[in-house]
Amino acid sequence: MRYDVIVVGGGPAGSVTARFAAESGAKVIVLERRQEIGSPVLCGEGVSRKIDDWDMLKGKRWIASRMDGARIYSPDKTCVTLSADMAGNETGYVVYRDIFDQELAHRAISKGVKFMMNAQAISLLKDKGKIKGVKVKQFDEEFEIESDVVVGADGVESKVGQWAGIDTRLDPKDLETCAQYTLSNIECKDAYCDFYLGREIAPGGYVWVFPKGKDVANVGVGILASLSESGMAKRLLDKFIADNPRLNKGEPIRFLAGAVPVSNPVETVRDNLLLVGDAARHVDPITGGGLTHCLEGGKLAGETVGGAIEQQDFSKELLSKYENGWKETFGKKIKRNYLVKEILLDMDDKTFNMLADSLKDYKFDELSTYSLIKALVLKHPTLLMKLRPLLKVSKKLRR
Ligand SMILES: Cc1cc2nc3c(=O)[nH]c(=O)nc-3n(C[C@H](O)[C@H](O)[C@H](O)COP(=O)(O)OP(=O)(O)OC[C@H]3O[C@@H](n4cnc5c(N)ncnc54)[C@H](O)[C@@H]3O)c2cc1C
Repeated sequence: MRYDVIVVGGGPAGSVTARFAAESGAKVIVLERRQEIGSPVLCGEGVSRKIDDWDMLKGKRWIASRMDGARIYSPDKTCVTLSADMAGNETGYVVYRDIFDQELAHRAISKGVKFMMNAQAISLLKDKGKIKGVKVKQFDEEFEIESDVVVGADGVESKVGQWAGIDTRLDPKDLETCAQYTLSNIECKDAYCDFYLGREIAPGGYVWVFPKGKDVANVGVGILASLSESGMAKRLLDKFIADNPRLNKGEPIRFLAGAVPVSNPVETVRDNLLLVGDAARHVDPITGGGLTHCLEGGKLAGETVGGAIEQQDFSKELLSKYENGWKETFGKKIKRNYLVKEILLDMDDKTFNMLADSLKDYKFDELSTYSLIKALVLKHPTLLMKLRPLLKVSKKLRR
């Protein structure tokens, strides 16, 4: 078997990369080790509405609910509200992630991409050190597929990067361990995503409540692995739900546990190879959201790979167009938010309460982590010392 491009992983990053490479004329195959695209779901399912501008998803089947804003609760329950009224209409959706992923795969397939299911990449094929395809295991059979380019879109546990000699290891302080229930029979009075902060409820992370309808929501917690121990995420989540009168009559219709990288991105290009999505560590280190970057990064990766196939040049130099592209588009934001994550980690609950109190009546001009950081700096010039590395570049980093 021979293809121009092998994409390892049929998540959002893989499907979008495959689609854009195929649109540029490349012959593409996606290898997916699971038996169904998008399932089991491992996601809070929140995504910004800016994806509407990108022509990625057709129809509306993937939308569970449209959000009017977000509320952030400090440890003493002071509430900071970012609403669509104040912030224009750039809020978000809560999605059905299984349908979301399948729609992206349909789109790739409509451009000629082939999908192989239950197909796990087990190593890279190399010829005198040059990457020339992938060894695959499907059921009990092992076989080889050759290609000019291999794309690692294999998520947080990515192996493709390691096989190519890229250091993708994650420090425990750069990994969030998460647990989430989808709870039915709870009250979701309004279309707001709620975030709860506090050392006791979520060390180094937060609890989220993302409504999927009037009486159902994803309720989850992410905590930093360096501050965690076995089973802690689920224990904290169970306690949060039990203590919360709005949630404690709910019944779970789904439970999941997973991990999110909250690090700086890794190197993403080698001769004949690129990394996209969580495999590239393209996740916002503050929010843990990765979906928008999968779509933006996947498009850049697919277009770059398509160009490489056209020119029959698979060198790191040519493929670096992708790395330069994502650095320009969202890489600077990740770098900025990584610094903010480190600063937030040094803060105690008292400081969070003080910050929330000072922002509770603030009129945000947009719904973004940037606007929160800007408001904090305006309200607390003494924080400028800690945020100085950010401010030097903050104008350029604004996204
Ligand atoms: C609990 C939790 C909540 C989250 N909530 C949000 C949220 O609300 N909003 C948001 O934007 N982001 C959220 N994220 C992050 C988001 O889910 C990821 O950023 C996103 O899924 C990354 O997409 P991807 O395509 O890079 O990887 P994935 O979606 O992980 O897809 C990778 C695919 O590769 C396949 N694969 C892996 N290895 C191989 C192999 N060797 N061979 C073949 N196939 C392979 C896997 O089976 C998988 O299907 C959350 C993550 C978690 C864990």
